[in-house]
Amino acid sequence: MSKNSYFDTKIEFLKGIGPQRARLLNTEINVFTYADLLQHYPFRYEDRTKIYDIAQISHDLPYIQVKGKITYMETVGEGAKKRFTAYLRDDTGEVELVWFRGVQWIEKKLKKNVEYKVYGKPTSFQSAWNIVHPEIEIFDDSAEHKGYLQPIYHSTEKLKNAGFDSKGLANSMKILLEQAIPNIQETIPIYIIQKLKLISKQQAIQYIHIPPDAASLEMARYRLKFEELFYNQLKLLKTKQINKSKNDGAVFANMQHVHTFYNNILPFQLTNAQKNAIREIHNDVKVGKQMNRLLQGDVGSGKTIVAFIAILMATSNNFQTCIMAPTEILAQQHYNNLSEWTQMLGIKIALLTGSTKKSERALIHQYLLSGELLILIGTHALLEDDVQFHNLALCVIDEQHRFGVAQRARLWKKNEQFTPHILVMTATPIPRTLAMTFYGDLDASVINEMPAGRIPIKTLHKIEGQRLALFGFMKQQISLGRQIYVVYPLIEESEKSDLLNLYSGYEYLSQEFPLPEYKIAIIHGKLPQEDKEFAMKLFVENKAQIMVATTVIEVGINVANATVMVIENAERFGLAQLHQLRGRVGRGSEQSYCVLMTSDKISQESREKIQTMVRTNNGFEIAETDLKLRGPGDMMGTRQSGVHDLIVANLATDGEILSTARQYAQAVIESDPDFLLKDNLFIKQHIDSLHQNTTNWGKIS
Ligand code: ADP
Ligand code: MG
Repeated sequence: MSKNSYFDTKIEFLKGIGPQRARLLNTEINVFTYADLLQHYPFRYEDRTKIYDIAQISHDLPYIQVKGKITYMETVGEGAKKRFTAYLRDDTGEVELVWFRGVQWIEKKLKKNVEYKVYGKPTSFQSAWNIVHPEIEIFDDSAEHKGYLQPIYHSTEKLKNAGFDSKGLANSMKILLEQAIPNIQETIPIYIIQKLKLISKQQAIQYIHIPPDAASLEMARYRLKFEELFYNQLKLLKTKQINKSKNDGAVFANMQHVHTFYNNILPFQLTNAQKNAIREIHNDVKVGKQMNRLLQGDVGSGKTIVAFIAILMATSNNFQTCIMAPTEILAQQHYNNLSEWTQMLGIKIALLTGSTKKSERALIHQYLLSGELLILIGTHALLEDDVQFHNLALCVIDEQHRFGVAQRARLWKKNEQFTPHILVMTATPIPRTLAMTFYGDLDASVINEMPAGRIPIKTLHKIEGQRLALFGFMKQQISLGRQIYVVYPLIEESEKSDLLNLYSGYEYLSQEFPLPEYKIAIIHGKLPQEDKEFAMKLFVENKAQIMVATTVIEVGINVANATVMVIENAERFGLAQLHQLRGRVGRGSEQSYCVLMTSDKISQESREKIQTMVRTNNGFEIAETDLKLRGPGDMMGTRQSGVHDLIVANLATDGEILSTARQYAQAVIESDPDFLLKDNLFIKQHIDSLHQNTTNWGKIS
């Protein structure tokens, strides 16, 4: 919007504001310039278009507009208890209007036998309706006083005291709009505006603040959302294009390890989805440009093997690779799983985490520099500066959402000759809209198919009163030779009481499942590493039938013999986490179960969460619900770029607009990547103006 300096004008220069109130606008709502104020969009609108009958007042209408004449008014009480009451009547009924403040003023202002329009929040008191401190004005039927949608702006206590409540802001906005509108430049190319029947930028800004009716507001919203998402996608796709054309990547021409592994070692048939993903990766790594690829797939869909084959493409050519995992347990498990195969192939592999011993670490550093060590698996520890490679050519990042963009960039820098290929594996499926905005700069492969022979997990919701039946079921499963997880929440804020819960649950289970017949292992993040490993070992070797744990097992253990996942206080977990936990079972050939335990009183939102889990095993469907329940910011956990730049668009609900925006952005990038065509002049101008304010527009990924 800040195409020319007009929109960078300091807000203090707007009529009626001045330096002091400007400072408040700066500090309270981040409004510094004309452009900032224009983008302080209303967060809701009050419907003043409709006048209701007084008889229609009900609890279903939190705010209501009525009209009528005053039949009776009186002031009662003295001093602080003084109040003024007026009775407003129309053909259908009567409502009491009450004022506790400004009594003298209002009693002078109101007259009988005059028709008034009244707006406010009705409450019922002793079966009669009243409205406290309503807005009231003389009813005027002329065209310009016809109903309207009143914008409501976010304000703060300090701003309100300075006259900037929502109404005050609306007044300043009106003054600004009058002079600003003609200066607003169009940002969307005309051919797109025509194709999509968008309204102009000028109209949109006018209507978003002062909508003449609901339809205009809708058009304004659509237009502004489209613009926001169009530029969001344009930026991501441009970044992707720059990376593709600029960054050299290693060429993996030889496929010797891949063939040996595929023909002699791979213990199962790959699914078609896995084969496709491998093909897509292969296409990326044979051309000499850096790969940036996202590998999405549900829990258990077999992402690891795909990543491993990508690694073998590198090692076949004597290039180094690394896998970065979010937890030590997961890194350890990747190491254990892959070691067996790499040994058969004669490839050197090592594990580097925070708890790797100094002597071992030194050795790893040495082998990395000499180039002998081809696969390094680890945690964040990999990012440290003293971890230097001879020729790092591929990084696999597991469970990406815990890593930020900055960390990705640090990996890039570990090779000075060319940029390592990046393969990002996501822990849980991400809704399409989030994938498009968070990872829009990456190519995506989706594994949407489970390995054959998997039996879908049965998910049940049980409450406290059904616990004895649950124990019976657990005993039956154990007698069949199966193993069981019992998971407790452990949230950092309530760590102490959560740990107590975990241990009292453990005690309780110990009584119900006593030695020597049963053995229970316990594991949580606070345990020393040796104890964790010991507990894991017990369970992995089937020496313990029950594993009591916190979410440390979420992304960890893979025990095919475990068939029951009991989740205590299931309502306290997020949907994505529940789905991840459930994915720990159902890995073998037996029917598996997930039991969600809650108290019988849970909130509506929790109920929806639990019901979603019971209804579906599909991670993508779960992710969509999660997005609706929690919103995009919470879901991705951190303040990464993408989501928080969005002012009007909502990724939970605007998926279709996003898809459309991406299509158009893609077409522009493909046909006119540098925005040189006359048709795309508005894009060029808008980006140039953004450039003045934010550096490195095309480089931010
Ligand atoms: P995730 O996608 O959750 O990371 P994993 O890669 O851990 O899943 O795979 C889950 C399990 O399925 C592993 O034991 C793996 O060896 C096995 N697996 C992977 N692909 C197949 C397949 N095509 N057929 C049979 N089993 C497979
Ligand atoms: Mg995995």
